[in-house]
Amino acid sequence: MKDESCIFCQIINKSIPSNIVYEDELSLAFLDIFPVSKGHMIVIPKDHYQNIEDISDDILTHIMRIVKQLSILIRERLNVEGYNILQNNFPAAGQVINHCHFHIIPRNNDDAKFKMRIPRTQASEEYLKKVLDLLKI
Ligand SMILES: [Zn+2]
Repeated sequence: MKDESCIFCQIINKSIPSNIVYEDELSLAFLDIFPVSKGHMIVIPKDHYQNIEDISDDILTHIMRIVKQLSILIRERLNVEGYNILQNNFPAAGQVINHCHFHIIPRNNDDAKFKMRIPRTQASEEYLKKVLDLLKI
């Protein structure tokens, strides 16, 4: 299942060149051409799924195993102190390419890249109970 207008499907088909780090029958990992840091890579399923909701649990499990293995490889080979794993769903969350993908972004202490320091305020117990009523399974 491919979408010929999708840039990631074109990378999978090799009609667009990329720097492939890992490939198997279900997944592909390649270096981001706009890296946040050295070794920033993108891991994708080979079939075109718009977002995480569209992927079967089996494929998602496989992709996450690959993300884990590549994260360990990044930390060992690039000797970095950490990494972020980012995955955006829908434009409101910053998804630009509508082919589900995971970023692995190598990080070092005080590397002057982004930090997850989003403005937050402590919630009241009443507020948390209301949200819990909406979400509890
Ligand atoms: Zn695609």
